[in-house]
Formats: sequence, structure tokens, C-alpha cells
Amino acid sequence: MNLMNSEKPAAPPPDTNKAAPPPPEVGSASRTAAATTRRAGTNERSRAEARDVDFFYGDFHALKKINLLVYDRRITALIGPSGCGKSTFLRTLNRMNDLIEGARLEGSVTIDGQDIYAPSVDPAELRKRVGMVFQRPNPFPMSIFDNVAYGPRIHGLNNKKTLGEIVERSLKQAALWDEVKDKVKQSALALSGGQQQRLCIARVLAVEPEIVLMDEPASALDPNSTYRIEELMQEIKADYTIVLVTHNMQQAARVSDYTGFFLKGELMEFGATEMIFTTPEKKATEDYIRGRFG
Ligand code: ADP
Repeated sequence: MNLMNSEKPAAPPPDTNKAAPPPPEVGSASRTAAATTRRAGTNERSRAEARDVDFFYGDFHALKKINLLVYDRRITALIGPSGCGKSTFLRTLNRMNDLIEGARLEGSVTIDGQDIYAPSVDPAELRKRVGMVFQRPNPFPMSIFDNVAYGPRIHGLNNKKTLGEIVERSLKQAALWDEVKDKVKQSALALSGGQQQRLCIARVLAVEPEIVLMDEPASALDPNSTYRIEELMQEIKADYTIVLVTHNMQQAARVSDYTGFFLKGELMEFGATEMIFTTPEKKATEDYIRGRFG
């Protein structure tokens, strides 16, 4: 059973006023990350930042000097051929890679300026702030209600009324409420695949994360369910910062504000999605988005 989606409510995020000026740039790596962001609006505020991130699985060098900013309440898509390091990078943002033996990270990853790899950071606490939705829906074998209430409950919230409110709010945010409101006591396993994935998103949202990582969340779903997931991403980005791994370029073009193109462990290009898809700077990016290799 994966419990990463089931953490208790995090402290409310700091003031995320969109009109705030961009953060000061400190250090050369930071300048590199900002410089690689093409057309970031001047009012954009970065939430997470990777600086010179190298990642190794034993001797295998899976990520090479990644510099990338994740902007507040925006959808950042990571695209690139299979095996180029997208999921590995995604997992560096909530230290999910810590669970892999022999894995090692160099460089730094910060969230709101805090080094998430500092010894003082508790990975479980971090994963409350940075929730994750996986490729295959993984509802727990319990009722719809209990799935969504699971995270708040394991962290001590037992008030029936409050739990009911959280469950309703989360299911509404995940665009599932109307379909399940009369059967929340029924098993989550009876839902369709698309509904199960929206339930998993509701389960993540129930603990009010600041950042939501989505690793190909629609790749196992039919086109209609995929559309629903894309629609709900657009809706929740008013409140959440989303990083999306997708092998589906059309999906990246449709839903994201920023796109990073990974190739063989390197971030080849990063910037406003419109720019990446209309006027890529690198030939490799252009070849990839034109479908010349996959
Ligand atoms: P993508 O998400 O772009 O498909 P991944 O991040 O999953 O790529 O993988 C990047 C590279 O790291 C691949 O060569 C893959 O085989 C390797 N890799 C991924 N996970 C592990 C692991 N747990 N142990 C060893 N190598 C891994």
C-alpha cells in the first residue's frame, strides 16, 4: 500500500501573492536556472528550484546538472523520450528517490528557499507538502470516504464533521463529487479507472499539499478520463503548484504553462510552453516535438 498520498494537512502555505516580485537570484546556479526559463512572466514566483542537480543510481548517471525553477500555481510539464530522467527528476522534488538503494543526489533542491535534502528535513513531513499522484490509480481497499479521509485521520483528525467537510471539498476539487456523493461508503475499488485516479487526486488534495507531482497520471486512462484529469488540473492550479511528467506532448501543450524537455538525463530546454512548442531553441527539442524521434 502506498501511503505517500496519505499525509496529514500541512501548515498553510506562505503567502503566495502572485503579484510578488520574482525572488532574488543568488549564486551562479540560480542565475542559470532563471536564464534557462524563457519568457517567465515578471510576476512569476518560483516555489521549487533545482540547482546543478546530478543524480546517480549506483554508477549510472541519470540526471546531469539540472537547473530548473518550478513556478507557483502553474503547471510545469516534463517531456522527453522514455528513460531520459523525467520521473527521476520528479522524485527528487519529494525525496521519493531516497527509498532506492544506492541512489545519490548532488546539487541542491530547495522549496521556498529551504534545502529539502538538509539533515534537519524529515522526508515524511516533506511529502505532506509535496504530494504525488502515480501512473496507475492506487486506491486503498476501503470506501471512497475512507480513502480520502485516510491522510487526515492518520494524523489525528477524528472530528466527523470536519472529516466530512474535507472529503466533500477534496472530491469536489477532484471533480468526482457529483458522481459519488450518494455512495461514498461504497468500495473505491468499484469505481472505474478514471474515477479511481480522480479519487487518488482527491486523496492527495485532502492533506492540502503545496506542490502536487503527477507522474503520467492519465497514461493508463481512456481519452474521456484523460480529458477529465486535464480539466481538473487546470482547475486546481489556482490553488496548487503542479509538476507533470507526461510522454504525451499534446497533453503538455494543452495543459502546461512551462515545459522542460529532457534528453539522456539533461534538461535540454525549459521555458514557457508556448515558446517551447512554437519556437524551440534547440534542434533536439524541435525534432522531438515534431515527432522525429520518440
Ligand atoms: P523517464 O521517466 O524519462 O522514462 P526515468 O527517470 O524513469 O526516465 O529513468 C531514467 C534512467 O534511470 C533510465 O535509464 C532508467 O533505466 C534508470 N532508472 C530509473 N529508475 C531506476 C532505478 N530504481 N534503479 C536503477 N536505474 C533506474
